[in-house]
Amino acid sequence: MDINSSPPTGAPSYLDPAHFGPWGIYLQQVERVRPYLGELERWIETLRRPRRILIVDVPIHMDDGRIAHFEGYRVQHNTSRGPGKGGVRFHQDVTLSEVMALSAWMSVKNAAVNVPFGGAKGGVRVDPKTLSRNELERLTRRYTSEIGIIIGPNKDIPAPDVNTNEQVMAWMMDTYAMNEGSNATGVVTGKPVDLGGSLGRREATGRGVFTVGQAAARHIGMDVSKSRVAVQGFGNVGSVSAKLFALAGARVVAVQDHQHTIYAEAGLDIPALMAHAVRGDALNDFPGAQVLGQDQFWDVDCDIMIPAALEQQITATNAARIKARMIIEGANGPTTPEADDILQARNVLVVPDVIANAGGVTVSYFEWVQDFSSFFWSEDEINARLVRIMQEAFAVIWQVAQDKQVSLRTATFIVGCTRILHARDLRGLYP
Ligand code: GLU
Repeated sequence: MDINSSPPTGAPSYLDPAHFGPWGIYLQQVERVRPYLGELERWIETLRRPRRILIVDVPIHMDDGRIAHFEGYRVQHNTSRGPGKGGVRFHQDVTLSEVMALSAWMSVKNAAVNVPFGGAKGGVRVDPKTLSRNELERLTRRYTSEIGIIIGPNKDIPAPDVNTNEQVMAWMMDTYAMNEGSNATGVVTGKPVDLGGSLGRREATGRGVFTVGQAAARHIGMDVSKSRVAVQGFGNVGSVSAKLFALAGARVVAVQDHQHTIYAEAGLDIPALMAHAVRGDALNDFPGAQVLGQDQFWDVDCDIMIPAALEQQITATNAARIKARMIIEGANGPTTPEADDILQARNVLVVPDVIANAGGVTVSYFEWVQDFSSFFWSEDEINARLVRIMQEAFAVIWQVAQDKQVSLRTATFIVGCTRILHARDLRGLYP
């Protein structure tokens, strides 16, 4: 029997990759890093088993008097390098497998940029668009109370993710602080600036996407100012990334959200499109843009593609159609391992999520530090530190990819997993 496994019982374990989509993808990515771990490979099960999984029932009063129940999760994948850290998403398709994978990608990401955090993630299986503001607040507060037994400024620090924002973080912070009976601004990041949030946090993920995109473009001799960019997802990450590429002179020719795809040969006016989206207007009503079918997005003639929506968007079925020379993953987990192989064979550079979108958690780290010291930095200082961390981390990863002749994803996993397992090894087991 493999000494690393629990005795077989016949029933599939929640860790079984065959039964769990995104978690299975993450496990395949871990296998790709195994040959490069050296002595630390003896700790590899640490990466293959989340440290702690909490599944909670979230009952709330609906405005019409009914009582509704939602399923919530918080997974702490690893805490060897520091407290758990990672966002909370509200989405109707959230599953345990997804939250497990997202928590693991946080561990790798935090280690790759060397911020002193482990990895965690949370989610509630709910479509927040179907809730009133009061229902959303009750859901957030009840979920926070339920996971309150494992979160805290020194234990695990949530943040925004898909469909959660500064207001949701304000409610989470308030609920935790009220339950604790003390101030606890450091329990979440991505808060409003007036509540101990950090300047620059809202734009940080997009700024990080742009920063590593620029660095990667230099390595392959691509001129960003002359590039054509296609963006999937126009939330916080997609819209800010698009804005920064457009500011650098790139033409953002296509934008897709979960309902529509729009295209403009001369480039879309991104600030105008952001204002359009903030008003709640549908993408296909944007003046001057051509409306494409959702599937046509993958055929758009572009140099850079930025998936900034959900997981498993670039798959074996569409990877061969992508015209871009470079993909920068604003989303977590947008590319499957099969698609990674197709893209690599076609010489398309994939800048993986675990470095490309690390700007958000990097400024979350700054926010957490500022909350502890109650001393707040200027936006320029924050952006300068963010850019420096992202550039330095990317340079190390690029070098590892060159030296070992591996993809940037495997290189980032080599850097991140080595740091995690080295910390694991130094700490040892207790009890
Ligand atoms: N949700 C973001 C991510 O996936 C940020 C997490 C954080 O700031 O803790 O990286």
